[in-house]
Amino acid sequence: MSKKIVIVGGGIAGMGIVNTLAEKLKDKEITVINKEDFYFAGPSRPLILTKEQQYDRIIRGYEEVGKKGVKVIIGNVYKIDPDNRRVYLAESSMGNKVKELSYDYLVLTPGIVYDGSSINGYDKYAWKNTTVYDPGRVNVLRQRLWTENEGSLVVYAPKAPYRCAPAPTETALLAHTVLKNRGVREKFKVIHIDANDKTQPPFIADVVKETYDKAGIQLVTGQEIVEMGESYVVTKSGEKFNFTVLAMLEPNRAPKFIEEAGLGSPFVDVRSPQDLRHPKYDDVLSAGDAAKLPFPKNQEIAFESSMFAANKILEMEEVSEKVPVQYAFVGWAYMGNLEGKLETLSLQFQMDLTTQPPKPAKDPQLKRDYTLQKDRWEQAYLERLFGYKVI
Ligand SMILES: Cc1cc2nc3c(=O)[nH]c(=O)nc-3n(C[C@H](O)[C@H](O)[C@H](O)COP(=O)(O)OP(=O)(O)OC[C@H]3O[C@@H](n4cnc5c(N)ncnc54)[C@H](O)[C@@H]3O)c2cc1C
Repeated sequence: MSKKIVIVGGGIAGMGIVNTLAEKLKDKEITVINKEDFYFAGPSRPLILTKEQQYDRIIRGYEEVGKKGVKVIIGNVYKIDPDNRRVYLAESSMGNKVKELSYDYLVLTPGIVYDGSSINGYDKYAWKNTTVYDPGRVNVLRQRLWTENEGSLVVYAPKAPYRCAPAPTETALLAHTVLKNRGVREKFKVIHIDANDKTQPPFIADVVKETYDKAGIQLVTGQEIVEMGESYVVTKSGEKFNFTVLAMLEPNRAPKFIEEAGLGSPFVDVRSPQDLRHPKYDDVLSAGDAAKLPFPKNQEIAFESSMFAANKILEMEEVSEKVPVQYAFVGWAYMGNLEGKLETLSLQFQMDLTTQPPKPAKDPQLKRDYTLQKDRWEQAYLERLFGYKVI
């Protein structure tokens, strides 16, 4: 019988593995499980706020993946049993055709969930919160920024590591851009509260601070939000901030079924960034944001870790061919447009993680071209992983 490889999560890391193994292990049964029948890309989501990005350009389906002979299952994984090699699925919008799957290799790439349960009052008032982080709430935030004429926007970044380090900064600066464009900026307070000592990633914090000063954005660092009400948040030091619009990123963690299976908390334990097997199980691997890696959580790292995970499976299957890969990334942070033109400028930064200590670099000059470059980069990833371009 051919071996079964099950991948939980058809996002950046999951699809990186699926595509590589579908090409190099043609005799194996490869199954990818994703909880939705589409994938919604992350990096340019914040530009939905300024209407510089549209939903249809960053959503992809799994049709082309299916054509490669990969089995695609739409379902929500709620439990895994690594001792008995079983994966359990709950019903999805496409019915409940499969409830339980067995595997020879399991790869965990479900990304992260946003967990506000440590914040007092979150249970009651979570509905008040928007963010750029998910498809529904970014739409709510856009609506508020384009319709409200006065108030106070509070943006929040939790303690690192969280997915996409500069996204809270991007939120504050793109909100500034929209409000300025509408001529209501002076009637709004924009406050960025950060649980870290510096805005993330720290090596661009100086340019962020300079830009915030020009935009009149208030920055409060080293303050964790511990309580929320209907129109206020409170930090650990007892300081209270009122809001009319809240864009609070909740602390990140891997989905609960990981911890419940004893595979790690809050992220999946792995042997090393190059050997992504779970310390206890040779047949359970993880990659992407869900994995406990000593690196920032971003798309390049997610993809690169997925190549290391694919290489490990190839090695265990005694395939000598490997995918060349190393850890390094280039990123672009949207810095908005101080004058309120809906033409976002970006900052380019990069990090080489092959050296110790890692070598960061940046171009402090904000450029429009970097925004366009980020779009080309994101579209290229989506085409490579999901097999088609959008027209
Ligand atoms: C707003 C935003 C901005 C970002 N900006 C950047 C950027 O500028 N640069 C950059 O490099 N990165 C950026 N990122 C981060 C980047 O998108 C992530 O690091 C990357 O997508 C992680 O890949 P992943 O495969 O681990 O998770 P994902 O790509 O999130 O994929 C996980 C998949 O698993 C599925 N899944 C989850 N739980 C289950 C379950 N229980 N059962 C079945 N399926 C499940 C999900 O539906 C999803 O399709 C950004 C992310 C966001 C949200």
